[in-house]
Amino acid sequence: MSKPKIWLSSPHMGGNELNYIHQAFDENWVAPLGPNVSGFEQDLEKYLNADVHVAALSAGTAALHLALIMLGVSHGDEVICQSFTFSASANPITYLGARPVFVDSEAETWNMCPQALEEAIKDRVSKGKKPKAITVVHLYGMPAKMDEILEVAARYEVPVVEDAAEALGSTYKGRRCGTLGDFGILSFNGNKIITTSGGGALVCKTAEQKQRAVFLATQARDEAPHYQHSSIGFNYRMSNIVAGIGRGQMEVLDLRVEQRRANHAFYKEIFKDMSGVALLEEPSADFFSNHWLSAVTIDAERAGFDREQLRLRFLEENIESRPLWKPMHLQPVFADSPYYGGNVAESLFDSGLCLPSGSSLTDEDRSRIAEVLTAVTA
Ligand SMILES: *Cc1c(COP(=O)(O)O)cnc(C)c1O
Repeated sequence: MSKPKIWLSSPHMGGNELNYIHQAFDENWVAPLGPNVSGFEQDLEKYLNADVHVAALSAGTAALHLALIMLGVSHGDEVICQSFTFSASANPITYLGARPVFVDSEAETWNMCPQALEEAIKDRVSKGKKPKAITVVHLYGMPAKMDEILEVAARYEVPVVEDAAEALGSTYKGRRCGTLGDFGILSFNGNKIITTSGGGALVCKTAEQKQRAVFLATQARDEAPHYQHSSIGFNYRMSNIVAGIGRGQMEVLDLRVEQRRANHAFYKEIFKDMSGVALLEEPSADFFSNHWLSAVTIDAERAGFDREQLRLRFLEENIESRPLWKPMHLQPVFADSPYYGGNVAESLFDSGLCLPSGSSLTDEDRSRIAEVLTAVTA
């Protein structure tokens, strides 16, 4: 019999989620509104601790879509997006008939390179296409170099959407990721640091913005006894059942951050004497990562094995690992999009691997992982 599967990142319930769901059933709040939705939003606002207004939605992707709408992105516009990311960061740009312009990463945080960003803005402006927005991502929980990015964005007066889908619990200079841009987005998909099975949130700076987001997310009904519409709406609100899971998960978020960071420390210990394997680490005390996923790059010549060999060794032991994101500018679907930068994202993709990082990893799981890692170097 094969050993039990070790997943890259599994849902990890805290215990109280079902109580919130039972309460919703008892009160018949089985709808896309109710006390769990507002309770979850309040929990998030309190946690983010930055005078923000949070709208709970059906997905992080929906939050990105609404953020771009609220920034006025429309047909024929261009939006700058980090190339090294999951496709959901870029797809909503195309929902609006706009075009993504992709920008490379820097090697320290693996997120958007501020120099490449400025180069992109300058060149698009010179072509008469000033970008309407910038989407920056905190991949694997690692905060991007936000001061530098926000400085460039402010100088050219382009608003910033912060894709913090993977970075709830991370901070940059003591401030929570998701609160640093003009809008922030969060995801509670099944593999994220906390999950509602599926869900997301839009982090707004004002109560009016949140009100507008909720209006758009609930089919854009005007004030009237009948159904009256003067804008195109969406069905993007989070349900009260799902929000109940979110409330339970908020009770254990700090613990989940600790557990993911403990995984990272475990890998750091293993790799400290291993040549050719570099773990993604916080560049300085300004960066605090939730270490949602621990990830490495492998220099095959120095290590004596490559990314794919390690992945297959894990697989033989029924352990899941995964190559880093394939950059968007290399994806067939975005072949026509402009790209600025060098080959940082591309070489990360060529040499990088995400390691099992779930908060529910057991000591036995960790020793199975360590065994593969020591055997592969032997
Ligand atoms: C998960 C994720 C999203 C999308 O969130 P969903 O809730 O799955 O729609 C967007 N961006 C990044 C970087 C993600 O990892």
